[in-house]
Amino acid sequence: MTERTDVVVIGGGQAGLAAGYHLRRQGLDFVVLDAQATPGGAWQHTWNSLHLFSPAAFSSLPGRLMPTQPGEEYPDAGHVVAYLSDYEKRYDLPVLRPVRVHGVHDDGRLLRVETDSGTWQARAVISATGTWWRPFLPALPGRGDFEGRQLHAVSYRKPQDFTGRRVVVVGGGNSGAQIAADLAHDTELTWVTRRPPRFLADDIDGRALFDAATARRRALDEGRTDTGGVASLGDIVAVPPVREARDTGRLKASPMFVRLDRDGVVWADGTRAPADAVIWCTGFRPALSHLSPLGLRGSRGRIATRGTRSVQEPRLHLLGYGDWTGPASATLIGVGRPARDAAREIAGLLAAGG
Ligand code: FAD
Repeated sequence: MTERTDVVVIGGGQAGLAAGYHLRRQGLDFVVLDAQATPGGAWQHTWNSLHLFSPAAFSSLPGRLMPTQPGEEYPDAGHVVAYLSDYEKRYDLPVLRPVRVHGVHDDGRLLRVETDSGTWQARAVISATGTWWRPFLPALPGRGDFEGRQLHAVSYRKPQDFTGRRVVVVGGGNSGAQIAADLAHDTELTWVTRRPPRFLADDIDGRALFDAATARRRALDEGRTDTGGVASLGDIVAVPPVREARDTGRLKASPMFVRLDRDGVVWADGTRAPADAVIWCTGFRPALSHLSPLGLRGSRGRIATRGTRSVQEPRLHLLGYGDWTGPASATLIGVGRPARDAAREIAGLLAAGG
């Protein structure tokens, strides 16, 4: 089966839905192909205690405010899934799932999108596949020797799975701090970070992060000095459970160890911490393997972009992923503007006969 459309959006998480909203406003014909069986993208797979670091009103996609969650200032992941499910229904977005894209190919005038459910030909493609699907684990000596359990944050669900165990949590970002806080009561916890943890001030949440990202975007747009954006504020949002664990002395970070052995982790001075499990909260890489047939891969697994548009392939836009496709574009509230820009640029390109 081969279908034809103006634009194929790959990925039906928040970024793909925001793209759909703006493509519809541009009057373009499009389809959203999503590998998941149900709506909600990565939010369907997070650990049980995860809450947003912004209130609902500051976590909204274009066109529709996220409703508040009764009893929760910071909504949980289930609430986000419900919001995204409602969003795609409300705007009647043409999302097909489960459809996994294997490769995007340059067929001359059109891009050919090969999937496990047939082929689409499109005049433009928006890739919005996120990062959750490519967890990153650092290469450390002895990782293969460790006989305990090793998992990345994507596979962590709840503290009860580790009750009474000696757990090493690696990572000084939000995932590391939240998972360490989650485990602080019921396990023998060692939290390890590459540099001393940098908590944002307690009264700063995702709203301030978004403001910082916006200020940075303005500065860059106007050719002023880079303000440093979100990174200038700190790494860890002090959400209530993190704050509680920190303030009760349960969230003390140790420096990074240098290797693992059969039954624990070892620091440079020879100190050891025996461990039953190591949880790697060490980040993600963009899930871009479906674009490799286009031969565009740049440094650190990224693709060079101007805004959201690929520098080398103007029919391709990348949405979400991280600040390199637009400040805060990997957040609910931040993805709206780059999605709008991508849809506008594509409409312009197609109107010009591209
Ligand atoms: P995803 O949600 O990952 O969606 C991508 C979709 O593409 C998925 O459905 C996937 O199955 C599909 N896909 C992937 N590959 C293919 C393929 N080859 N073919 C077809 N489909 C494919 N943001 C906030 O705004 N507020 C927060 O509080 C917040 N907290 C966060 C906490 C954590 C721990 C993490 C990891 C992120 C958080 N974020 C937060 C960031 C961000 O909102 C999420 O990462 C979000 O899920 C990114 O959305 P996305 O649509 O880009 O990607």
